[in-house]
Amino acid sequence: PDTRPVYKRILLKLSGEALMGDGDFGIDPAVIQRVAAEVAQLNRLGVEIGMVIGGGNLFRGAGLAEGGMDRVTGDHMGMLATVMNSLAMQDSLERIGVFARVMSAVRINQVCEDYIRRRAIRHLEKGRVVIFAAGTGNPFFTTDSAASLRAIEINADVMLKATKVDGIYSADPMKDPTAVRYDTITYDDAIARKLQVMDTTALVMCREHAMPLKVFNLNTHGEIVRIVTGQGVCTTVVR
Ligand code: UDP
Repeated sequence: PDTRPVYKRILLKLSGEALMGDGDFGIDPAVIQRVAAEVAQLNRLGVEIGMVIGGGNLFRGAGLAEGGMDRVTGDHMGMLATVMNSLAMQDSLERIGVFARVMSAVRINQVCEDYIRRRAIRHLEKGRVVIFAAGTGNPFFTTDSAASLRAIEINADVMLKATKVDGIYSADPMKDPTAVRYDTITYDDAIARKLQVMDTTALVMCREHAMPLKVFNLNTHGEIVRIVTGQGVCTTVVR
């Protein structure tokens, strides 16, 4: 198989839940190390990698608000959760020899760098993996929206969204056996049919800025590298 990357710069979005493995909270070290190893492979192929990691394995603002907490405070906790996940990924990458930098949308600069666009691009050009933490820095947004925003800001060639299934289906494939996977779908269809790919804000951002999006299964080992080398199974969302 051809191992030449078809993209020069990517934005990889992982949900926090992707790091849980079979657990129901927190980070499974085996899972984060496997993902880091796959990211390291891409890094060695010369691909410039920006990452956004969610926080749903630790805290979600909406969930905390359901329990009675002030929503904005809950969202602040959610954003801090993404910082924790990002630090864990930075550590996993650096332990296997890949330079990485966490850049946070909220200032916590004893712990990581602040997000400064031009500095982020410089890190990418130098071959460092940049992990964009704390989402957009604003409550009421999601890390999918943060990923769309950063992908556009850094001029990524593609945004790759890692999920638990190998693309976008006509219905939830976990529940409906007649669900079919799309090879390609438009942003408008994904939005209109509420296919739960990403929230509408994130999809609209990608649509308005013509950012190609690919949805793939992170649980399939080696799939990140296959997608970036033009193989693998995914759904491509286009304009
Ligand atoms: N969050 C936020 N603003 C953002 C991104 C995230 O307030 O720009 C908060 C929000 O509470 C969210 C939590 O951080 O629930 C974790 O992010 P998300 O739910 O997107 O994580 P994922 O589902 O990808 O694990």
